Parts: sequence; structure tokens; C-alpha cells
Amino acid sequence: MNALIPARPPDLRTLVALMKRSSPVYFVAGGTDLLTSARQMPLVGTLVDLSGVHDLAFIESSGADIRIGGATTIAAIAAHTKLAARFSALSQAAGECGSMQIRNRATLGGNIANAAPAADLVTALILANARLKLFLPGGSCAEITLEEFRSGTGALIAEAVLPNLELLPRSAFAKLGLRRDLTIARINLAAMAEFSDGRFGSVRLVAGALGPHPIRLLRAEGALSGCPLAPASLRVFVDALAADVDAAIAGRASHCWKRRAIRGLGLDAIARLCEMSPRDPLFDETW
Ligand SMILES: Cc1cc2nc3c(=O)[nH]c(=O)nc-3n(C[C@H](O)[C@H](O)[C@H](O)COP(=O)(O)OP(=O)(O)OC[C@H]3O[C@@H](n4cnc5c(N)ncnc54)[C@H](O)[C@@H]3O)c2cc1C
Repeated sequence: MNALIPARPPDLRTLVALMKRSSPVYFVAGGTDLLTSARQMPLVGTLVDLSGVHDLAFIESSGADIRIGGATTIAAIAAHTKLAARFSALSQAAGECGSMQIRNRATLGGNIANAAPAADLVTALILANARLKLFLPGGSCAEITLEEFRSGTGALIAEAVLPNLELLPRSAFAKLGLRRDLTIARINLAAMAEFSDGRFGSVRLVAGALGPHPIRLLRAEGALSGCPLAPASLRVFVDALAADVDAAIAGRASHCWKRRAIRGLGLDAIARLCEMSPRDPLFDETW
């Protein structure tokens, strides 16, 4: 008889051994996406509960790179002070993901594997050029960039690696949805930059929900890199953000409001990155 067989391995070694001898294997972690979408639920195979795999939930920031286990909860990511100091865009994205109840269950791996265009953590992870350590069906190990990842292949996301060399000193995340709290982003933006003495050095920007996957905003990056934090350069910056949206989604129904919304979102992200209030008169002068 065809059936869905549950499994709850205690550690990664047991899980990989199970992947070697069973097919197909599906995963459930927090269940906040899988269990709320009956259409995603598999009917036949082995359904592995990742919430008991103790060595799949960790944040290690002691060495040069930051490594985050696939079953790490979003609440744990939001609360990690060393991570916040090194890469605040990811902490802020985690802190604004769903409600406290969702964050306590939802995981990094689930956010990536669910592959929603507006998945908040994915936008921040792409900003950091994150790499993924996977276990493929059959149990072999592989490492790829996050941008190469495609969902539905049966691979286990064991960990995300944030390469130290890719992390610029400051970063921030901002999103816009239908509500202020507990909102799925209609558009989100993660920014990372060198910033000192009132001037930007390198700038990197990634936006989610402008296509199936988050994208770099290269025009806006070029407009702000090397410029002072001043109304004139911010005006050029927000125009470049709108131009990036034009290039990504011209002709789509959401194009008109997203090209306006990204201007405010960009200024919010820059205010956060520079540790300023978004109500600072400097930002008013930009409009
Ligand atoms: C009310 C509500 C509000 C939400 N708000 C937000 C929000 O603001 N921002 C946001 O980004 N998301 C939001 N979400 C979506 C969701 O909470 C996240 O995508 C979450 O990170 C999914 O993680 P999970 O552990 O619950 O995944 P699950 O539901 O357990 O799994 C989702 C998918 O990922 C696969 N999977 C899980 N873990 C792994 C792994 N380690 N390796 C491979 N595949 C895996 C599963 O097989 C399944 O296909 C919200 C959801 C709800 C219900």
C-alpha cells in the first residue's frame, strides 16, 4: 500500500543514512509553509521531521565565515547578537518575518526551500552571496551558491554559509506589505555598504518580489557608491532604484506602484544602515 511514512532522526548522520536507503524523502521543519498549504503535502514516501535533528540547528560566527544550520529557527537568527553585529540585514529580516509564533517554528531552510519570491531571509542571504551546503537525494554532499538553488529537487539544506569576505561593514533590511505587522512583503530590500565620515564606499542592494528570485539593483548601487549622504546624491539614488524596477518588471500590473514604493523603501534602508531616523529632515529633502 502507498503511504507517507514519518521519520524523526535525532542527528544529521542518521538523517543522511535514511536518505541513502529511502526514496522519495520529503522534509518538514517548522511546518509553517508545508502544513498551511495542503497542495504542497506529499502523499507517498518518507516525511522527515527536521525539528529533532539537533546538529542541524546552530549559528557559528566564531571563525571568519558565518554558518547557519538549515533547521535553525528564525527566532534564533533574530536573537543572535553576534550575527546582528556582523550582518544586521539578516537579523532584521528575521525579526520582521511573520509573528513571534511563526518565528519560533519557521526555519532558515524552510524559508529558502519554499522559494517564495518575497521570502525575507532569502533577500538578505543573496545580499551576502551566501553558499548552501546540501545533501542530495541518495546522501551525497554538495555546495552551491544560493542563487543556483532550485526547490523541489529533494535536496536537504544542511547549512547556509555567509562568506566573511562578502560582508561589508554595515547592512540593513526594509520591507513593505499590506499591513505594518505580520505582513508578507509585497516588496523587500536589503542593503549593504561601506559608510564612514558621511560618505558611502561600496554599496550592494538586493530586492525581493520583483521576479521569481531576489535581484541585485545595479543601477542604484552605482548611483550611491562613492557618494556623500546628502539630498542630491539620495535623489539620484532613488531615481536609479525606480529605473531598476522599470528594468525588472515594466509592463506588469504592480510596476507603477512598485517603482514609487521602492524609493521610500530605499530611503528607509539607508536610514537604518546609517543608524538615522527615517524621519530625519535629510530624507524629506530628497523628495
Ligand atoms: C502567518 C504566516 C506569516 C508568515 N510571514 C512571513 C514573512 O513575513 N516573511 C517570510 O519570508 N515568510 C513568512 N511566512 C512563510 C514561512 O513562515 C517561512 O517561509 C518559513 O521560513 C518556512 O520555514 P518552515 O521551517 O516552517 O518550513 P516548512 O513549512 O517546514 O517547509 C517548507 C518547505 O521547505 C522544505 N524544507 C524545510 N526545511 C528544509 C531543509 N532544511 N532542506 C530542504 N527543504 C526544506 C519543506 O519540505 C517544504 O517544502 C509566513 C507564514 C505564515 C503562515
